[in-house]
Amino acid sequence: MKLFLGGVRGGSPVAAPAFARYGGDTTSFLVEGEAGERLIIDAGTGLRSVYERLSALDPDRRSVLMLFSHFHLDHLAGLPAFPPLYCEDWKVEFAARVLDDLSVEDIVHSFVHPPVWPVPLDEMRSGRIFRILDEESMEQASLFGGLQIRWCPVRHPGGSTAFRIDETASGKALIIVTDIEWGESDEEERRMLESLCRTPRGADLLVFDGKCAPDDYEPYRGWGHSTWLEGIELAQRCDVKNLLITHHDTDMDDDACDARDAQIREAWGEARLAKQGEVIEL
Ligand SMILES: [Zn+2]
Ligand SMILES: [Zn+2]
Repeated sequence: MKLFLGGVRGGSPVAAPAFARYGGDTTSFLVEGEAGERLIIDAGTGLRSVYERLSALDPDRRSVLMLFSHFHLDHLAGLPAFPPLYCEDWKVEFAARVLDDLSVEDIVHSFVHPPVWPVPLDEMRSGRIFRILDEESMEQASLFGGLQIRWCPVRHPGGSTAFRIDETASGKALIIVTDIEWGESDEEERRMLESLCRTPRGADLLVFDGKCAPDDYEPYRGWGHSTWLEGIELAQRCDVKNLLITHHDTDMDDDACDARDAQIREAWGEARLAKQGEVIEL
């Protein structure tokens, strides 16, 4: 199983030379299973690079599964321009929890629609399937080829979702938590995420929202984000092998990212700051 990072920025995208090394696109990842499974998580502006990677890997592919952690703009902004939506021979399957009483179908239809976007979804030619991640799918893993997908709700304004993906063939496991506020999470929320991280065994990689530095969290309390140190503590408590910190602030340029990366690595040798364009082999 591999993980491609199409975008690792939170809030809004940024384009300037000073941001070139860590990248300016917002959250979008591609999980690549050994048996050819392709699973997109979130559709921020990084979805453009995810699509380029997808086309380069399998030029003949015409279907993909897209999971959403939640529907804030930084996780949705790349969707209207996603080329497969416009192609008759493509099938896109969307899956997410109902958040704020809105399903993924409600959200995608209202977002990919005038006045936000000139072409309404209904006029796009691809096939589409919408799936709701309900309580049942939380208790029992959903199968996607040789991948098992599990999830749990996490604390974030309006709600967000953590995903765990286990690959049966390789025995590798990946956790993705793009947006979470650990500091405001209640006991039950913490217990659920810890259980996701360590059951049936400690995951190989945790991708975790570390927008904040430990000494700069208080001004952002209630904004829905965690500190990178909370990511390290969670990973260590749950026997997770490696940690990637994501959701970098829009004003954190490459020099600031380098400084933060050094702090993170010093705190734990198995942790570092994510970079757009990276492919991580689990
Ligand atoms: Zn976000
Ligand atoms: Zn968010």
